[in-house]
Amino acid sequence: MNYPNCPKCNSEKVVKSGIINERQRYLCKKCSYHFTVNKLGKQIDNYYVIKALQLYIEGVSYREIERLLGISHVSVMNWVKKYRIKAPDNNEYHPTYKILKHEELVSYLQSRENIHGSGMLITELGDKFMVIKWERFKE
Ligand SMILES: [Zn+2]
Repeated sequence: MNYPNCPKCNSEKVVKSGIINERQRYLCKKCSYHFTVNKLGKQIDNYYVIKALQLYIEGVSYREIERLLGISHVSVMNWVKKYRIKAPDNNEYHPTYKILKHEELVSYLQSRENIHGSGMLITELGDKFMVIKWERFKE
């Protein structure tokens, strides 16, 4: 896959850095400049399709997925239909999540309290990380 060169310094050292309003966002490793390219339309990377469906199964709402991934909830609903995803009923746990930078993630994990007592998943989100945790509904 061809990545665009950085529009600021013309470096080729460019990495993907999330999606904003359905535009692929890139980060230039050389000058730290963020930029986006034209609308992806239907060509949204499968990486984000899978990520969106993962969140859907975890019980994250369409609107929240839109906010987190920058992909419209209509696209996500279409994928749920297309791949016939059915999230299992879940009345016991609800997901909570945090978006953390790498340093924040490291210090978050250092505290045993933060990772004790519930399931947890860490997934990459652009140049940050998302920690999804399950908490029991209060009885
Ligand atoms: Zn650059």
